[in-house]
Amino acid sequence: MAIIPLDQRDGYIWINGEFIEWKKAQIHILTHSLHYSGAVYEGIRSYDSKIFKLKEHLNRLFTSAAILKYHPDVSVEIMSLATSKLLTLNNQKNSYIRPLIWRGSESQRINSGMLSINTMIACWEVGSTERRAEELNIVITNWLKAHPGSLPPNCKSSAHYQIPSLAQLEATEAGFDDALMLDYRGYIAECTVSNIFFVENNKLITPIPDSVLQGITRSTIIDLAKNMGIETEERRITPEELNSFSECFMTGTAVEVKAIKSITHNGNKIQYNNNSITPRLIKAYGELVRK
Ligand code: PMP
Repeated sequence: MAIIPLDQRDGYIWINGEFIEWKKAQIHILTHSLHYSGAVYEGIRSYDSKIFKLKEHLNRLFTSAAILKYHPDVSVEIMSLATSKLLTLNNQKNSYIRPLIWRGSESQRINSGMLSINTMIACWEVGSTERRAEELNIVITNWLKAHPGSLPPNCKSSAHYQIPSLAQLEATEAGFDDALMLDYRGYIAECTVSNIFFVENNKLITPIPDSVLQGITRSTIIDLAKNMGIETEERRITPEELNSFSECFMTGTAVEVKAIKSITHNGNKIQYNNNSITPRLIKAYGELVRK
């Protein structure tokens, strides 16, 4: 079945407090955030009409906005209600939900008091089935995560996303499923749009979230593991250590929890046999979000 392009669908999109017909939800070509990568956003999932960790995502959205000194005139509560209503209006149950805050088209100065702060929420159906249990082959890219002193990693700003976009393009063109990025110090950071975990002696190991996005799925996995009696250690991880781990997986709202079969670094392929903790966490996460 042909996929209908996102801008040609039917339904409603919430913009600045109003539900607008999908195809009429447009902005001006001089929109400031288009020219200067100045939008902040979230990616949220609903499962059978239940929105997973909505408050956590909206709180992170408002944190991202605050870092850029954007002050939207709506609250987390209003956006939360609007999100639920939007799913109902669009008659969607299993959706990807995209709230976004951006600066308007009133000026092209990089900062101007005239610039409006706008908010929107869109959602589209992504199906109810659990993700295929495929395992991924990824590669360490030369593109580094942004230095936290340039743009904090906990600011989920569109400005960050050119780097993973380039890294992912390079990785997929070379036949890999995704790229693994290092931070400015050369430590393992995260995949392009997901966090990474390893298993070492029945313990989870994951990078300290000081140069990566502190994923909501990441926190959920740490909690789930704890309930299973599995400890998580956050620490610095070097590429040289990668062959000392037994299992590897990525986490993110869209990707959920996905096993990583191999990581290629400088032409060497390090393989993981994800047959113990990873499948248990994939199952536990799949059950939790669909509860
Ligand atoms: N890192 C990056 C760079 C991401 O874009 C995402 C997806 N939001 C994640 C990690 C995972 O975050 P979450 O679990 O909150 O979706």
